[in-house]
Formats: sequence, C-alpha cells, structure tokens
Amino acid sequence: MIEIEQLSARYHQVLALDTINLRIQGPTITGILGPNGAGKSTLLKAMLHIIDHDGKTILDGKDIRKQRGKIAYVEQKAAIDFTFPITVKECVSLGLYPKITFFERLKASHWKKVETALDLVGLKEYADRQISELSGGQFQRVLIARCLVQEADYIFLDEPFVGIDSISEEIIMKTLQRLKAEGKAILIVHHDLDKVKYYFDHVLLLNRKLIAFGETETTFTKKNLQVAYGNHVILMEDEAK
Ligand code: ADP
Ligand code: MG
Repeated sequence: MIEIEQLSARYHQVLALDTINLRIQGPTITGILGPNGAGKSTLLKAMLHIIDHDGKTILDGKDIRKQRGKIAYVEQKAAIDFTFPITVKECVSLGLYPKITFFERLKASHWKKVETALDLVGLKEYADRQISELSGGQFQRVLIARCLVQEADYIFLDEPFVGIDSISEEIIMKTLQRLKAEGKAILIVHHDLDKVKYYFDHVLLLNRKLIAFGETETTFTKKNLQVAYGNHVILMEDEAK
C-alpha cells in the first residue's frame, strides 16, 4: 500500500502540489490525470524524493526511501537521452542492477530474464540494436521491459503514451495488465482523457490539490473533470457522466 501524507512541493516558493493525502492499495492500474502544469510529474517526483517537498510517502508500512528495491520509475520522455550508445538488451539489463552487487557480471540467468522481458514487449529481435535505432514506441517498450526485469511491486510511469504508435501503446497496456494480475500497483501519469475508462481501475484527478480519487466508474465524472480542468474541458457527452 502507498500512503501519501501531507505532501506539498514548491518551485521557487510557488506551490505546485498542495497538501496531498492519499492511500493507494494494489493491485491496480491508477491514472493520474489533470491539465498541463497540474503537478502530476511533481507528485511522482515528490513521492520518490527526487525533489524537495514537505510530507511523506509510506510504502508497505515503511518510509519510501527504505523501499527503493520495490519501485520502478520511468520519467517523462523529454528527460531521457535517446542517443546514449547502448544496445536494447543492455538498456533492459540496467533494471537488474539494484539486484546484483556492484561490478558483478551478469549471469546467463540474468540475460534469460532480459530476453523474456523483451519477448513480452515484442522486441526479441531487437535485442542487439542500438536504442537510437528504435522508434519512440519501441523505445518506450524497452523501458517497460526494464521495469519487468526489475520485478518491482510499484511501477510509476510518467506519460508513457505520448508520441508513440498505437501498437506499442497496446503492447504496453497488455504488459501492465499482466503485471497487475501478478499483484503489482501501477501509477500512470496520463493527460489525455481518451481511453481512461478502459485503461484505469482508479483515477486520481489533480490540479495542484487533489480533486478526487477513487474507482474510475465513480470518479471519472463530468463534475470532477470540470473541477480539475475548468469549464473548457473537451469531452464527448458520453465519455463521462
Ligand atoms: P504536469 O506534470 O502536471 O504537467 P508538473 O508537475 O511538471 O505538471 O509542473 C507543475 C507546476 O510546476 C507547473 O506550473 C510547472 O511549470 C512548475 N514546474 C515544474 N517543474 C519545475 C521546475 N523544475 N522549476 C520551476 N517550476 C517548475
Ligand atoms: Mg508532467
């Protein structure tokens, strides 16, 4: 279980996240929704102690800083260096490093895990390619494969579907469903309101403050969306009640 207590974050004195209190119980795929600048990325970064903040995050009863081995995080794409010279399988193998000691060589069993993960995301044939040769969607699948080998219980993804092809999106969603079935909790920052009902069990609506959190069916409502996005929310009438 993730317990977020009194979480606030500021950039240069400007409040980006205002006193968030929340409990997320897995297994679940939870969508973190809200307009641009709502503090979605900031929420993940504050939870993970990547940025300064007030308040705390408890994971399975312990401070999140003591639970790093249970967490996989894929940051928003803009922040990742695509041109770094590394092969697909090496990139995926980086997910194993928390599990093996420093300078220990990867064993055959480790490479087997990498291969299985690449197979699951449909990229087995790409194992020896350079990551720079991949499309955006394929690269995002590599990052998901890296989460798979990490065997984390909590997976945080920041806008994984932005600018990727629909096949990659489908493969990633199927992989995440599978992880959920294994008992994992997955949090996905997602700013597009399409497909919310199909993708997420729970939604968290954010606009600096927590607007609403709960089951998608009861929380992804027109009323809550209007509070989160303002009245200019673009919605098909039948997309949300
Ligand atoms: P979202 O991910 O929901 O689009 P962010 O969490 O990135 O929003 O940002 C929330 C607010 O904080 C925005 O107003 C943004 O401009 C501001 N912000 C984000 N990162 C920084 C930063 N490094 N320095 C200053 N302001 C920032
Ligand atoms: Mg963001």
